[in-house]
Amino acid sequence: MAEVLVLVDHVDGVVKKPTLELLTIAKRLGEPSAVFIGAADKGAAVADVVKAYGAEKVYVVDDAEIKGYLVAPKAEALQQVAAAASPAAILIPANGETNEVAGRLAIKLGSGLLVNAVDVTADGVTTQSVFAGNFTVTAKVSTGTPIITVKPNSAAPVESAGAGTVTPVAVTISDAAKTAQIVASQPRQATGRPELTEAAIVVSGGRGTGGDFTAVEALADELGAAVGASRAAVDSGWKPHTFQVGQTGKTVSPQLYVANGISGAIQHRAGMQTSKTIVAVNKDEEAPMFELVDFGVVGDLHTVLPALVEEIKRRKA
Ligand code: FAD
Repeated sequence: MAEVLVLVDHVDGVVKKPTLELLTIAKRLGEPSAVFIGAADKGAAVADVVKAYGAEKVYVVDDAEIKGYLVAPKAEALQQVAAAASPAAILIPANGETNEVAGRLAIKLGSGLLVNAVDVTADGVTTQSVFAGNFTVTAKVSTGTPIITVKPNSAAPVESAGAGTVTPVAVTISDAAKTAQIVASQPRQATGRPELTEAAIVVSGGRGTGGDFTAVEALADELGAAVGASRAAVDSGWKPHTFQVGQTGKTVSPQLYVANGISGAIQHRAGMQTSKTIVAVNKDEEAPMFELVDFGVVGDLHTVLPALVEEIKRRKA
């Protein structure tokens, strides 16, 4: 069976959930192999994690020569791993940086590229939500090694034992790839909550919060969810832009999205409408968000959400 490469998404060797989702998708297409670009001494620990999700091989590319630079060296490294593995497909977790890596890789390999997929079938057909979510496109790469970037939460990770054989790959990075250097980088402030685009549950607040996110955050913490916001809430200065969900914010696709005091403008929907289950709390029963929901509550979020938190606590007890 042909190998399917999965680029490992990690922070300092700590594997992030989208990697496990991609390994699960990779298994539909062939034999999953993980590609870890990071500190070589963390390769074994990474292999321990990814082999539990089906990775037969773990290509380890030491990033000593890569980490100080932006995307170009990563594309060169992946190109060299692909040359060694001759994969049937390459899956990459979708985000701003990796989509650019994927684009560069596609040029280098002369391959077709599909970005921001929300599903990939066994025959390589992807589903994408495009033009602010107004169209759903199914597509398939017809040239070269298919390169597909996949959004977080596109699949539930399924455990499946793989060999996890660590295979170090020595790569050569050209001077041309080192023209843009990272001067400083700041880790995300620790909030104790999951990252918005990776969270299985997102609880968002809009203008209807009136700037008081207490009830939204209490529900998020009860559910172990990330907190999101509409642009109106962000523009009002109630939350930073990193919280914004929508066309000009982040795209999320969690198992559960709870929209509170958010009217459901098309630009907001563009960032959340692929969520598996959508719940809205809005005091206006005519709010467009109700057209999209699986469950809707007409009411004041400052009353409904605390009652919901109490009920969840009661059921957990
Ligand atoms: P509103 O539309 O004002 O809705 C507030 C809702 O709260 C209402 O439905 C109201 O009934 C309800 N409400 C009020 N009080 C309560 C209460 N106590 N309890 C329960 N419900 C209550 N928007 C985004 O969100 N993300 C984007 O990325 C984005 N990008 C954009 C890009 C462009 C180019 C443009 C033009 C617009 C963009 N917008 C975006 C803005 C978008 O069009 C809407 O203006 C915005 O989403 C509205 O935010 P909102 O739903 O919080 O506010």
